[in-house]
Amino acid sequence: MTTRRALIAANWKMNGSVELAQTMSSALSSLTVHSEILICPPVIFLANFPKNASYQLGGQNVSTEIQGAFTGEISADMLRESGATYTIVGHSERRALYGETDSVVLAKALRAVSAKLTPIICFGETLAERQQEKTFEVIAQHLDAVYAAHPELLAASVIAYEPIWAIGTGETASPEQAQAVHEFIRQHVAKYDANAAEKIRIIYGGSVNADNCQALFAKPDIDGALVGGASLKPAEFTAICLAARDK
Ligand code: PEP
Repeated sequence: MTTRRALIAANWKMNGSVELAQTMSSALSSLTVHSEILICPPVIFLANFPKNASYQLGGQNVSTEIQGAFTGEISADMLRESGATYTIVGHSERRALYGETDSVVLAKALRAVSAKLTPIICFGETLAERQQEKTFEVIAQHLDAVYAAHPELLAASVIAYEPIWAIGTGETASPEQAQAVHEFIRQHVAKYDANAAEKIRIIYGGSVNADNCQALFAKPDIDGALVGGASLKPAEFTAICLAARDK
């Protein structure tokens, strides 16, 4: 039986400050938790987190390129050198606002793996897709796109299921809705690779907070959370970290 370590990942988006980096770092340093904790602040603040065994650091995005004339981009090696061990790729805001397609997301995930960063590959359905009962179809398409191009990539990644209608809206998928999709993802991955399916961590994102996290974490295929708004509040974020359990 495989044990999957719970992962609680904070996505600060374009929020936070040097002061919040310091406050969050102190709050997390005094915690004893079972889970792995990850903070993905704006990259400019990575250096403001003291090296600390109680959490890891990650990027929110990474370039598809290795280096060169790509103004404003940050490479996977730069993230790694700045202390990151993970990076988010394909967040719905990147897909919707910056036109990132599955093939761009795939290229980013591969760059991350080459630099020894674990990619957190995000996808989820829109409200219209859910209402048209296309959720599983959409999820299968995302997974198939990754697997068809690079069969080994999923085993080296974390998957974040983020229903777009639940991100930043205060509307969370119910634990049952989230579990159904997580179970579908694990079963779909098992069609390619049963061993990878058992080991891969599938985390949920979409308005997770201190009040709703326990019911989500109680579900067998929910291995943690990608937390946006609530990750900016040290007391709330630490409560979420404390609630997580390995599977
Ligand atoms: C996110 O940014 O990935 C996210 C889930 O945000 P929120 O928790 O604010 O919905």
